[in-house]
Amino acid sequence: MRRRFTLAAAVLPALALAAADDRPNILFVMSDDHAAPAIGAYGGGLIQTPNIDRLAAEGVRFDNAFCTNSICTPSRAVVLTGKHSHRNGVFTLSDVFDGSQQTVARLLQAAGYHTGVVGKWHLKSAPAGFDEYAVLPGQGLYYDPQIRRKGAWPETETHPGYVTDVITDLALEFLRERPAGKPFFLMYHHKAPHDVFVPKREHRGLFAGPIPEPRNLLEDRRNRRALRDTTEEVGGKHLAYGNPAWRWFLERVRYEPEEIDRWERELAGLAGDRLKRAQYRIYMRRYLQCVYAIDENLGRVLDYLDRENLAADTVVIYTSDQGFFLGEHGLYDKRFMYEETLRIPLLARAPGRIPAGSVSSALVQNLDFAPSMLDWAGAAIPEAMQGRSFRSIAEGRPPGDWRSAIYYRYWMNRAHFNVPAHLGVRTDRYKLIYFYDDPRGSDGKTPVAGARANVGERFWELYDLKEDPREMRNLYGQEAYGPIAAQLKERLNALREEYGDAAFPATASP
Ligand code: CA
Repeated sequence: MRRRFTLAAAVLPALALAAADDRPNILFVMSDDHAAPAIGAYGGGLIQTPNIDRLAAEGVRFDNAFCTNSICTPSRAVVLTGKHSHRNGVFTLSDVFDGSQQTVARLLQAAGYHTGVVGKWHLKSAPAGFDEYAVLPGQGLYYDPQIRRKGAWPETETHPGYVTDVITDLALEFLRERPAGKPFFLMYHHKAPHDVFVPKREHRGLFAGPIPEPRNLLEDRRNRRALRDTTEEVGGKHLAYGNPAWRWFLERVRYEPEEIDRWERELAGLAGDRLKRAQYRIYMRRYLQCVYAIDENLGRVLDYLDRENLAADTVVIYTSDQGFFLGEHGLYDKRFMYEETLRIPLLARAPGRIPAGSVSSALVQNLDFAPSMLDWAGAAIPEAMQGRSFRSIAEGRPPGDWRSAIYYRYWMNRAHFNVPAHLGVRTDRYKLIYFYDDPRGSDGKTPVAGARANVGERFWELYDLKEDPREMRNLYGQEAYGPIAAQLKERLNALREEYGDAAFPATASP
């Protein structure tokens, strides 16, 4: 449609428009806390997601895509800016995003794209760089959510219905009402399957049968320093990190008394491992029911692209703001640099550009989204962005000098589930993590917002992901792995220097 418009345009503007109009639309789909194994194409065996899987079948699946900081608000700031938390200023859930900084939205808008964001925003300040937006305040509600639209911030309007359907309606509205003659950039952000995992009413009978369990669901965490004390205080009770069901009971009791009754019946009389397995089933049932609605709704959007003949001209990216434990190590939630929470799903489809059914094992990060989308749009990638475009990898032309290690840092010391602040490096085979257990930020003086006092635990963990993909055996301190640990420390310090992260805490010492 845009191409026809170009041909009809007058000669002089046509020269400018001709270049512009060959640019693809960009549809960036991001769910919240959606772990890769809960997508059919990743082979987790937990759920079939035929619509998300279309992107893998018709495009590329990245098997080594990671976040830089496994938590909602900071991840979103990284996606927008292409910069690590210490550069974009959003270290924690409490930080307000400075909307005056350069973002992929501002840059695409300036390049002539019609830009929009719908759904979860979670950056506190009003969205900037968007021609249209309709976003949830904060976390938003699963049912009858409030929406803030451009021009009315911070006023809200209530949209009756289930949040995943509502956000999709808003995405379709943006697509239908977009101006002719301009490519579009839409960030279509789901709230689901973020806790407290409220499924659509019509989906509550799904996944009633057995659900595969991770092999380390019943891991004994008492000998793991980073995991043994992970608890959360909710409603005056100290709850184990691995017992999400109890948290739901407390949080949901006002809304879903009949569900609470059902769970209590399901868990009645159980103890020990049997109780843990029953809690896992309740958790996964609800989580997967939430994912089911995302898949169904992505189908509505992909069908729209097909119907309007837009699919061939649109780069579609599917990802999540970070990963999530689906019972591995007996856990749920995120924050850690462990594989389940570090890894993000990443699928990209662009017919004629990305070879169908391809798979990449390149180490990519959410840091790379902004530069990649600018690259697809043919816009300049600012030097200040710390990520790198993965477009050439997606299109089957991987560069010879792609990164061989990624950098990670989680700052909110002991703020939730008692998870210590940590940083680390991951290569294609090894991972080294330094749990430094300190609330102080870059300057080594001022505590980051929301972080708590340290309890004095400083320690390293080293994993061989080839031999031990589930990260069950910490090899740090073993003589045979001394040289590998030393090399990884060098890599870690080199990455900190490259990205301009703080000298605090020192990680050169043993
Ligand atoms: Ca999240």
